[in-house]
Amino acid sequence: LEPLPSEPDLLARRERVLAGVQEHYWAVPPRIERGWAVHLVDTTGRARLDMVNNVTAIGHAHPAVTAAAARQLALLNTNSRFHYRAIADLAATLAAALPEPLERVLLVNSGSEAVDLAIRVAQAATGRKDVVAVAEAYHGWTLASDAVSTSVADNPNALGTRPDWVHVVDAPNDYRGRHRDADAHRYGPEAAAAIRALAAAGRPPAAFLAEPFFGNAGGVPLPDGYLEQVYAAVRESGGVAIADEVQVGLGRLGRWFWGFEQQGVVPDVVTLAKSLGNGFPVGAVITTADVAERFASEGSFFSSTGGSPVSSVVASTVLRVIREEGLQERARTVGGRLKRGLLALAERHPLIGAVHGEGLYLGVELVRDRATREPATAETALVCDRLLDLGVIVQPTGDFKNVLKIKPPLVLPEDAADFFVARLDEVLTTGW
Ligand code: PMP
Repeated sequence: LEPLPSEPDLLARRERVLAGVQEHYWAVPPRIERGWAVHLVDTTGRARLDMVNNVTAIGHAHPAVTAAAARQLALLNTNSRFHYRAIADLAATLAAALPEPLERVLLVNSGSEAVDLAIRVAQAATGRKDVVAVAEAYHGWTLASDAVSTSVADNPNALGTRPDWVHVVDAPNDYRGRHRDADAHRYGPEAAAAIRALAAAGRPPAAFLAEPFFGNAGGVPLPDGYLEQVYAAVRESGGVAIADEVQVGLGRLGRWFWGFEQQGVVPDVVTLAKSLGNGFPVGAVITTADVAERFASEGSFFSSTGGSPVSSVVASTVLRVIREEGLQERARTVGGRLKRGLLALAERHPLIGAVHGEGLYLGVELVRDRATREPATAETALVCDRLLDLGVIVQPTGDFKNVLKIKPPLVLPEDAADFFVARLDEVLTTGW
């Protein structure tokens, strides 16, 4: 074996051979080689509190996942064309976790694949191409999931470069969007009118696709009634409603297991990934029998490793742990405590414009001026860097990268929530 390269050599090697990876803390990145529960440990032995990893929802290195994956790897791991127990168990568990009539499951390896497949399912089932998406959204990197990714945070040309089958409506963001605060009730009727206008122009959409709780904007709830109004409009002309639960689903919101419950609706297609595998690549699309059958009659779907025995047992284990360890309830209680702590900071620190979110999907939006809501983009990056020094990992989100996205593993203990609030207080008090 080659000896391990020294730290500067390793960074240089990484820069030389890795193409196009999104970078964080790039000036002096800690080298993270271990994770445990809510902590990430670097090679100097320093542990930092991980406030950003919604992928590892049940905690880093959860022993139940390690044991289930190791056992299954030693028994069988193959492509999903065979008949084995794990895939049937996972599909049944997912179908049971979703309300009727969501009952048919397709398994893939990532959120991008899940969104891509959801779009293909909607297009095949309706025989149409057009899709309506919201601004300030991120849904993935594949051709179709990228097409509906409208956030300008990493792609300033996003809105001008969507393919012609993608139609973008306003970001239903009541803090920063076109309609703010009490005016936010306008987003729903306007988006519904845009969908009806497409139908009237002879281009009824195959689907409306959005996060049902606005994760990419920093955990902003959609205005009351928004999805009800928009889903009604898209269904009226035969289209389907797709809810991207990749970030916000599976109990993270505390009060709701699914983001769409907050809106009191049931979508026709749901996409899942990230926390479903606790970091292992697993994604899923769940839809109705009717949509699934229409899709099947139009073509075929096969993913070699989507639904493999190992990915299936990993996902089933994650779902069991979320239930057995009461992690949705923990998200509600610890998330509530965390939000109260952050709201208290907002009373003393004018840089905090708003604290968004529910449970353990929160967003602290930093502004230079509370009246104009001018985004404090540079300050947000500096706050993240300073927090790294103080032992906390957190990163920005939103079109202006001015929202601290707070979505830690759901096993976050109360004292860790308090530690985060104290460190943020320290940074906002002493500066960066
Ligand atoms: N949908 C949403 C809402 C996401 O946040 C992401 C990833 N940030 C994706 C889809 C894509 O998932 P993945 O990175 O697993 O491909």
